[in-house]
Amino acid sequence: MNLTREYCVALDRDDPLRGLREQFALPAGVIYLDGNSLGARPRAAAARAAEVVSAEWGEGLIRSWNSAGWFDLPRRLGNRLAPLIGAGHDEVVVTDTTSINLFKVLAAALRVQQQRDPARRVIVSEASNFPTDLYIAQGLADLLQQGYSVRLVDSPEEIDAAVGADTAVLMLTHVNYKTGEMLDMAGLTELAHARGALTVWDLAHSAGAVPVNLTAAGADYAIGCTYKYLNGGPGSPAFVWVAPALRDAFWQPLSGWWGHQAPFAMSPQYRPTEGIGRFLCGTQPVTSLAMVECGLDIFAQTSMTALRAKSLKLTDAFIALVEARCAEHPLTLVTPREHARRGSQVSFAHPDGYALVAALIERGVIGDYREPGIARFGFTPLYTSFTEVWDAVEILRDVLDSGAYRDARFAVRTAVT
Ligand SMILES: *Cc1c(COP(=O)(O)O)cnc(C)c1O
Repeated sequence: MNLTREYCVALDRDDPLRGLREQFALPAGVIYLDGNSLGARPRAAAARAAEVVSAEWGEGLIRSWNSAGWFDLPRRLGNRLAPLIGAGHDEVVVTDTTSINLFKVLAAALRVQQQRDPARRVIVSEASNFPTDLYIAQGLADLLQQGYSVRLVDSPEEIDAAVGADTAVLMLTHVNYKTGEMLDMAGLTELAHARGALTVWDLAHSAGAVPVNLTAAGADYAIGCTYKYLNGGPGSPAFVWVAPALRDAFWQPLSGWWGHQAPFAMSPQYRPTEGIGRFLCGTQPVTSLAMVECGLDIFAQTSMTALRAKSLKLTDAFIALVEARCAEHPLTLVTPREHARRGSQVSFAHPDGYALVAALIERGVIGDYREPGIARFGFTPLYTSFTEVWDAVEILRDVLDSGAYRDARFAVRTAVT
């Protein structure tokens, strides 16, 4: 391992994506390694927000639903996002939250299975899946009663044995939020289909982070966030995709008027519109939704192939440097070394993980902490540089060598970690 700071500077100089960083507003003195939790702000977002608030809302008022394209925004943004996840035109809408979209697609999938084979009433997932995904599945099973249940496995190796004749849906998150482990979407989808199960994929840590091809994988349903790697802003609406062959098989239970065939007919009867529009529910937060486009504008200037190549170089460099320069400290790599099994983040377990992350944040290196004991660092090739990787590891080394993280103030937990 002969990585030096000079070498990292040279990598940045030769980085074909280096020009994209200027399109983000990043504060001085911060090395931002948390774009997997909240993406950085595209510079253009400030002007766009002012335009939405002052011109479209202030001047246009209600006319802007038509004249500023507010009503079409979930579909228009869905079409711009689609290429990043291997989806086709008019197959994606940006709307609601990931949790809410999961409820919709899971309910639709269970309903499809009810028509095909009513004996299938189990949702299989991983115990290490993001909690909201498990809570939503549990809530839906509880609402449906009639023997619906959630079966959790402790590792991806156990999925094979857990999916059987009783399984309605295999519900997985493509890249694990905690470990950064990436699952084989095509392989697991094939396994599920061979057993008669449908798949729901959560792309919260995949969209904009790794190449995804839902169509090639033969996936059935997918959902994901726009405020993480896609840089849509805090709480920006999520997305939902359904395989065209399944889309019109059933509507979803949050059958609000935005999913109606003719919302302004004001009919007393719900009639779902054809296509992905039936996965809309009600009126959207336009000011937040509009920001999503600023992030997608930046993705349109590059490719997921180029981003993936840089992402793997960044995470490889981080792993190598931490292991070489912090070797005497009890840090355990949790993220797979194998490229095919790694997302765009690196997690290390440390006995004082929380305090370590808090001390790093005070020094300007922003990562985050996840139970139990995991320090998590996201690498976003649109704006993270190799020199920052070097500098972040040097600060980590200093915080560890000096024992600075042991200070009592770093043990105090904040509401959001
Ligand atoms: C971040 C994340 C969510 C967040 O869901 P919200 O409804 O936006 O709070 C859901 N699932 C996974 C896997 C996530 O990583």
